[in-house]
Amino acid sequence: MRDDFSAATRELLAKRVGFVCSNPECRQPTSGPQADPAGTVNIGVAAHISAASPGGPRYKADLSPKQRADSCNGIWLCQTCAKLIDSDDHRFSRPALEGWKRAAERAAAIALSQGRRPTSASQPNFAKIERLLPALLEEMREDLHNNPTTREFVLLKRAWSYNSRGPYLAYYFDDHQDLEGKLQVLTNFSLVREITYNNVRRFVFEEEFVDYLIGL
Ligand SMILES: [Zn+2]
Repeated sequence: MRDDFSAATRELLAKRVGFVCSNPECRQPTSGPQADPAGTVNIGVAAHISAASPGGPRYKADLSPKQRADSCNGIWLCQTCAKLIDSDDHRFSRPALEGWKRAAERAAAIALSQGRRPTSASQPNFAKIERLLPALLEEMREDLHNNPTTREFVLLKRAWSYNSRGPYLAYYFDDHQDLEGKLQVLTNFSLVREITYNNVRRFVFEEEFVDYLIGL
């Protein structure tokens, strides 16, 4: 017995991400015209975050059939990424896919609002930073939810003992490959500002970036 999505749920999932694949490393468009002027081509798939039937990837036995077929349990992907996520359910875990989904919906919302504004070269390209640093953004997002008025953060190694007047957040070289490079990208887009004053790199979040991360 499979708890499949209804046509309406599949359409909802596709529309909420602007018909692009939700994998931040892919973002393949999934809908376009057919040669027949009345037809469309769809290469998108409403994939299950928790599998539709027992034994499937990320299957969660405590979901009801209704919950399993609900849009909350779906993510819109291209056909290639839909196969990919079912090939390795450790790497493509439920929290990882839920993060992709949130980021894709946010990117679609921003693409919509940017479309209404005159484009400006200085406008941060949020879709690009989501693609380049998804894990760091997820961690920052969670930190700002939990610490809504903290703006400063430092870059540390777990082995260092660091004591400084707080409050501040910390990101670790051990957790993020090329953390320096990632901070350089955020600095280039003026999303963070460096305020290093001793030998530990220290930054402050710009409010526009905070608003983006916490979804205001
Ligand atoms: Zn894809």
